[in-house]
Amino acid sequence: MNRTEAANAPEYGEIEIRDVTKRYGEESAGTTAIENCSFVVERGKFSVLIGPSGSGKTTLINLMAGYEMPTSGEILVDGKKINGPGWDRLVVFQETALFPWMTTFDNVTYGPRVQRQRAKAEISQEATRLLELVGLQDFRDKYPIQLSGGMQRRAELARALINDPKVLLMDEPFRGLDAMTRELMQEYLLRLFEGSNRTVLFVTSEIDEAIFFADRLIILGRSPGNVKSIILDDLPRPRTFEMLTSQRYAQLKEEALSILYKEAVSAFAKGSQGAVDIVEAFEKRQSK
Ligand code: ADP
Repeated sequence: MNRTEAANAPEYGEIEIRDVTKRYGEESAGTTAIENCSFVVERGKFSVLIGPSGSGKTTLINLMAGYEMPTSGEILVDGKKINGPGWDRLVVFQETALFPWMTTFDNVTYGPRVQRQRAKAEISQEATRLLELVGLQDFRDKYPIQLSGGMQRRAELARALINDPKVLLMDEPFRGLDAMTRELMQEYLLRLFEGSNRTVLFVTSEIDEAIFFADRLIILGRSPGNVKSIILDDLPRPRTFEMLTSQRYAQLKEEALSILYKEAVSAFAKGSQGAVDIVEAFEKRQSK
């Protein structure tokens, strides 16, 4: 997107998590996944939510998407309390959620077709544009099973973008992709969103991916889940892979890892694999 397009880009939304607690099960025997958690997913920013496994990342995504309701507290989109799912907040999931019985084109046009607010020709034109944007124009009539993992994620992205959501929620969308496809998808996503003014909340447990994408790093701690720190990621844009070796990058990583490390140690005692990964990454860095 060039500068003029960015200036004309629509204003996207903002989500406020206000003193949210989410408890599963009975009061006495249940789990408190999130407790008294407050933060803002800022308008027009690429926010990354990172934390050890079990810190409530998926719970927060489900709450923001409106699939689940908080036990207490509230979630607002542009100041309006949410009461359930909406087309203004869409999720790109970890596992592919494409309908297997629909072609790529039918999957991508699904949202506007069921909403019945736009003319058929307009929907088709927009889908064609988005399929080109994600490089799937030659795969419009294929079924999900005929697409590679990376293509499926791109089809999902197009399926979300056609609805032009106020906030795009991405729950570890590249998990399970092989390393090379993952790197290509990372670069692709950056090019797609840099300068677009979109509000994105991206969940990952990969620290490098987090710093590479983020304007803001929201770090969660666990037992129960809550925001430990918010780090402003001021690496210049456009981002390039060369920045991964810059001094500022190393500082940001150190800062994030030291917070995650403290969280991981407590989780480690409870035997979580996510914690083991973070501890190992931190210790490797410390020993360099
Ligand atoms: P993350 O995505 O960071 O790994 P989750 O949001 O999946 O964390 O989980 C946070 C905590 O809530 C964990 O202790 C988990 O076991 C618990 N939890 C998540 N979903 C449920 C559920 N549906 N029922 C009971 N406990 C749950």
